[in-house]
Amino acid sequence: MFDLQEAAALLRSCRLCPRSCGVDRLAGERGVCGCGATVRVARAALHFWEEPCLSGEHGSGAVFFSGCSLHCCFCQNYQISTGLAGCDITTERLCDIFSELEAAGAENINLVTAGHYLPLVVFALQQARAKGMRLPVVYNSGGYERVETLRLLEGLVDIYLPDLKFHRAALSSRYAAAPDYFRVAAAAIAEMVRQVGKPQFDARGMLRRGVIVRHLALPGQGEDSRRILRYLAQRYDDAVYLSLMSQYTPLPHAAAYPELQRRLTAEEYSGLVDYAAELGIVNAYIQGEGAADAEFIPPFDNRGV
Ligand code: SF4
Repeated sequence: MFDLQEAAALLRSCRLCPRSCGVDRLAGERGVCGCGATVRVARAALHFWEEPCLSGEHGSGAVFFSGCSLHCCFCQNYQISTGLAGCDITTERLCDIFSELEAAGAENINLVTAGHYLPLVVFALQQARAKGMRLPVVYNSGGYERVETLRLLEGLVDIYLPDLKFHRAALSSRYAAAPDYFRVAAAAIAEMVRQVGKPQFDARGMLRRGVIVRHLALPGQGEDSRRILRYLAQRYDDAVYLSLMSQYTPLPHAAAYPELQRRLTAEEYSGLVDYAAELGIVNAYIQGEGAADAEFIPPFDNRGV
């Protein structure tokens, strides 16, 4: 068992994520993620917009953490990732939130962008398990994670839901100031697959264990998306599910990137779907028309916090 002092110690000279800032978050210093030494959450509620095997009939128990170490210029959750909307909470409160979501009928506990608080989240998860929380735990991540940090989750997380956003360094540099994104995220996904293995579903079709890799297709970046699809097909075959997302929505904070000021066309998306099929990818979720809508972004109103 990981105790709270050990968890907090990892925030001193913080190197939890690949930004490796080295700041002392216990002393009030802030790194790239903008986060202090207390967990900050903007929403904890049943969420129906994940893949069907995660949302199910009753909804995924999504906990949206404030802050992010990646800061993609087009972030759809900008209000919390950069704006840091939310409330500071104790690990005891976080543990209670997990139990409350279970009591509300959640299909799983869905930790959305929790990596910059990871030791504290691990502590809260351990407490929740000790108190009898039985739901599968989903770790929902931008993919920019250190393998050493992910190892803290071994045995606690059942389902990994990482993004694989960019292949070329030029793209990840321009949109997220992370030229090493692909190398880092590919290593992180390999660690996730090592921990939880191939996808396993229950009789209701709910995912109980495994990895779903999400790729949000960006307007005009079909070649980068094709590189990612090729990588996943060659490296993983049926060992992961692909979720190919078409819901990119241009938002005002990305105004400095004119090429991102439009939605994906139907032709761009269907071209990627066809290409995935040509590669032999059969374990995949694709999105229907109408997915590109800001309504997919939940209100970050501190509900359930
Ligand atoms: S978690 Fe935050 S402070 Fe720590 S290394 Fe990453 S960006 Fe820097």
